[in-house]
Amino acid sequence: MTVGDLVRTLKDRREGGRLAMCIVLSVSVYVLLIASIVGGLYVAIFAAAFAVSLGLMAGHLRGNGVRVSERQFPEAHAELVRLSQRLDMPVPEMYVLQAGGVLNAFATQFSTRRFVVVYSDLFEMALDGGRAGLSFVIAHELAHIKRRHLDWRPWIAPAMFVPLVGAAYSRACERTCDNYATWLCPEGVEPGLLALAAGRRLSKLMSGDAFVDQLPDGDFWFELAQAFADHPHLVHRVNDCVALRQELGAAAPMAVAESQPMPVV
Ligand SMILES: [Zn+2]
Repeated sequence: MTVGDLVRTLKDRREGGRLAMCIVLSVSVYVLLIASIVGGLYVAIFAAAFAVSLGLMAGHLRGNGVRVSERQFPEAHAELVRLSQRLDMPVPEMYVLQAGGVLNAFATQFSTRRFVVVYSDLFEMALDGGRAGLSFVIAHELAHIKRRHLDWRPWIAPAMFVPLVGAAYSRACERTCDNYATWLCPEGVEPGLLALAAGRRLSKLMSGDAFVDQLPDGDFWFELAQAFADHPHLVHRVNDCVALRQELGAAAPMAVAESQPMPVV
């Protein structure tokens, strides 16, 4: 398997088409708004508010988050560097943020700076022997940066407010990032994703197989809830990642990709 084949395998096949749809929709909205003076003013206000919110987030992280470095959580920093090198991308800043027990992580940006933020309860997985799960989470967020999902956000913002359309593109991005994380940390699939379902401690008692067996066959409300969600259902995420892990294991792509730069497209 070449690096190009690998990237095509990891990138969700629906991502490109859905991004194109969001671009067309958003550009149409922007053109219509800018055509009128009042609408253009709204676009300018929105753009300024968006930039300010990113700046405030960056300031909040610096003031309240714990920056991961060689001197602060050095093992996590080493993993951040290792994963960034595997993706052939600059090492972003990483912060740990206390969020009252919420299990989440996200990638954000301000100007040319890129950030990975992991909430502290998710970060604590590593203390409970869940290093692979934490690596999976970090790899997923790095993939958002690598795939330039952050760069598109301001340009497709109007479409992201359209029910079903924005959520569909978001789910495709999430699937792509899960795929990258599965490739980089195959052993982190269950600990990383099951923790999101049941918490970092209870998830250690969970059966991944039994969880995937929850996948219904043609359930209307399951599918409807999925259509409105910006992330795939967790049962789908675990199921798809396990299937990809088996596929990648059969193709043995690791050696190829380690020795070559990782393209974006
Ligand atoms: Zn994500």
